[in-house]
Amino acid sequence: MTILYAVLILLAVLVAVLVLNTLKAKPKETTIPRAEPLELDEDNLAKHLSGAIQIKTVSSATMEGVDKDAFFGFHAYLEKTYPKMHSAMKREAVNTYSLLYTWKAKKAEKKPLLLMAHMDVVPVEPKTLKDWTYPPFAGEIADGYIWGRGALDMKGQLISICEALEYAIGHGFEPKRDIYLAFGHDEENSGLLGGKEIAKLIESRGIVPELVVDEGGVVVDGKMLGLAGMLGLIGISEKGYADITIEAKARGGHASQPPYDTAVSEIAKAILLLRKHQLKRTMNVPLKGFLEALSPNMSFGLKLVVCNMWLFKGLLLKVLGKGATSNALTRTTFAPTQLTGSPASNVLAQSATATINFRISPDDSVDKLVAHIEKVLKKTEVKIVNIMAHNPTQPSDISSETYAVVRDTVKQVMPDLMVAPYLMVAATDSRQYAGIAENIFQFCPYRSLADDLGTIHATNERMEIRSLAEGVAFYVRLLNNCN
Ligand SMILES: [Zn+2]
Repeated sequence: MTILYAVLILLAVLVAVLVLNTLKAKPKETTIPRAEPLELDEDNLAKHLSGAIQIKTVSSATMEGVDKDAFFGFHAYLEKTYPKMHSAMKREAVNTYSLLYTWKAKKAEKKPLLLMAHMDVVPVEPKTLKDWTYPPFAGEIADGYIWGRGALDMKGQLISICEALEYAIGHGFEPKRDIYLAFGHDEENSGLLGGKEIAKLIESRGIVPELVVDEGGVVVDGKMLGLAGMLGLIGISEKGYADITIEAKARGGHASQPPYDTAVSEIAKAILLLRKHQLKRTMNVPLKGFLEALSPNMSFGLKLVVCNMWLFKGLLLKVLGKGATSNALTRTTFAPTQLTGSPASNVLAQSATATINFRISPDDSVDKLVAHIEKVLKKTEVKIVNIMAHNPTQPSDISSETYAVVRDTVKQVMPDLMVAPYLMVAATDSRQYAGIAENIFQFCPYRSLADDLGTIHATNERMEIRSLAEGVAFYVRLLNNCN
């Protein structure tokens, strides 16, 4: 009997602890009240973005391939459209086509703010031209939208930054910290010629930005998480990237008298082995921050699980692992994407290769991944033959003042949003500031992204005019809140 009582008491205590932890979850109070809407001329904003879209700054992977006229034309367009910004800030061309703007504070009280964007856009597949409602480089303004390649990715954001500076300067803004704008010209081709060169220049000058804000995090419908309302997700870390090629070798020969195992079957077995033994799921910092920030809005059951990670972490990771999108937040992902074998169907392969694309969790690294693969492949004859990879960025501090400023700025402009930190699964130019800047945040302040995210790099890319104005307001408020 006493044992039964003891068990019952223990159970009651456990339930009480779980419920107490759950009830403690409250939204983090924002320190900045909702801002009055700014008086912005939406027609002008739309025209300015339309003009930017009409300049075909299609990305190039090489310096020789850059469309000179387009990029120099874009530089001139910015100068003409934003005269106040261009008289207040010093502009430098970096590696010919990228731009760095500098605004030195008279008396800097804080470390610098760096706002990023890229001028280049991805090309339009000729085959898809007929599917566009309006031609992709016409910058058509219709139905409350500005249409065209780059409207969202990311001329809309670049224009928002310039509009905000023009507005702020027109309203007597004086920076209390140095402000930098970094506009790369090859982000869509990995940013090594533009974004990286600007970052190197910043580092060589000993500049340490307190915060960097770039594209990335998005506004999405909370439905996908069973939440009523819209979410504003602020990227605080970018996953790493690895293309790893493995190879199986064999003697080859005529396919009419094959051995039981061939190079092709060996490589197939290696792929299955690696799939079975993947790096473990973890509750990484961005994922934990994401779940905790949203927990006040979750159903009681889900909230109870999230608020008691000490008990339910394993279960939670398992459940998140069920969906491809949520699984990607929990671990280094594994995606075999390319295979090679024999050059002819009746010839046994002397070499078979597989290339596997990994997106590396902030809790792992390139070295850890490679060591892991080597260990898994130890009992096989399959070897790694090529590695192209970079590490994840370390999560920015979500308990920092700068995170609070970005979060509160979002709330100030879009008060209905539930804001949470997030792990970026795609790469942006801002990764070049890992180790240079104190905090890097990625956010696209456009509500219409919730509907139009799928048009990025695709057909009918467009920016809602009202969302564009909200984006400008976000940057105006950010400039002020950072002061
Ligand atoms: Zn982009």
